Amino acid sequence: MPEERVFNFAAGPSQLPLEVLQKAGSEITDYHGIGMSVMEMSHRSKMFQEIFLDTKNRFRRLMHVPENYEILFLQGGGSSEFSMVPLNLMARTGKADYAITGHFSEVAAKEAEKYGSVSIVCSTADTGHNRIPAQEELHLDPEASYFHYCANNTIYGTEWQYVPDTGSVPLVSDMSSEITSRRVDISKYGIIYAGAQKNVGPAGVTIVIIRRDLAGNALPITPLMMNYQTLIAKDSMYNTPPCWCIYMVGLVLEWLESQGGVEAMEQKKHQKAELLYKVLDDSHLFHCHALPGSRSDMNVTFRTGNDDLDSKFVAEAAEHGLVNLKGHRLVKGMRASIYNAMPMEGVERLAEFIQKFDAEN
Ligand SMILES: *Cc1c(COP(=O)(O)O)cnc(C)c1O
Repeated sequence: MPEERVFNFAAGPSQLPLEVLQKAGSEITDYHGIGMSVMEMSHRSKMFQEIFLDTKNRFRRLMHVPENYEILFLQGGGSSEFSMVPLNLMARTGKADYAITGHFSEVAAKEAEKYGSVSIVCSTADTGHNRIPAQEELHLDPEASYFHYCANNTIYGTEWQYVPDTGSVPLVSDMSSEITSRRVDISKYGIIYAGAQKNVGPAGVTIVIIRRDLAGNALPITPLMMNYQTLIAKDSMYNTPPCWCIYMVGLVLEWLESQGGVEAMEQKKHQKAELLYKVLDDSHLFHCHALPGSRSDMNVTFRTGNDDLDSKFVAEAAEHGLVNLKGHRLVKGMRASIYNAMPMEGVERLAEFIQKFDAEN
């Protein structure tokens, strides 16, 4: 690794594989000898169409997306999907179920309330969102248009370790911070969405996987650009798509394939997270925010209980090339985001630093 590179534990935008950045850099002024950058190409050009199809097909292969599902590359971030999901699905029965396990699922539910009747089937707010509810705790409505949950709660560091059973009610999941880190049985879902900037690329593109038969139920007020049916009909190109970001996602997916795909990431992510949780649990100074059984492999949240000591930890870690460890303001303390692109070496360096800090303070 070049000496000036740091281990970046930011929650998003987050670290990207060095090989990907280097390849993008080498092609930035002249893509494959055509004398221009991907940023300068028409999205209708043959060259870009190839990039687009290649990226989409690679994603389908890596995530094992069945043929009756569409893959969309949109703009507006994960947050726009908070509105698009109810706009497109709520009209099915006029009501929807939401599980509240953190900040983003709460925002999603509030947004949905504008378009129909929302039932909060469970909430972990009373314990600071430090756990994931069990299936028995979900008070489901069999007539809901859909059930929405956030698979990995980036801010709190919790992750659903099971797929909720909702019977015939379509599952909708915000997988912004875990997409491509684990295997997913897509056929169990109606819609999965994810902003790219956590685990699959730069900010600016959002990936949506949607079961085709769910499109076509949009409320009449749905803006043109928020209607899944419009976007599916035009293969994500009703207007100019985020071309450069899609190309970058393609490079990340190419890298992912070279690493052994989603299956390999799933094994590696668990090893990385286990190492951190072990040193934190063994320390005298640190406490993890998330309870065992609910802990995320992607975002490890911890604290000392003393704000000054937390600040000292974050500052000293940065001096060791371990940056962006400050926790989100809602949880405080520290957060280490260890997405696909964070190598084992970075996690080992952080584990050593935690032990050293624990011994010295
Ligand atoms: C970051 C994040 C979001 C918000 O994504 P934007 O792309 O910034 O809109 C939504 N959900 C989850 C789980 C996230 O981690």
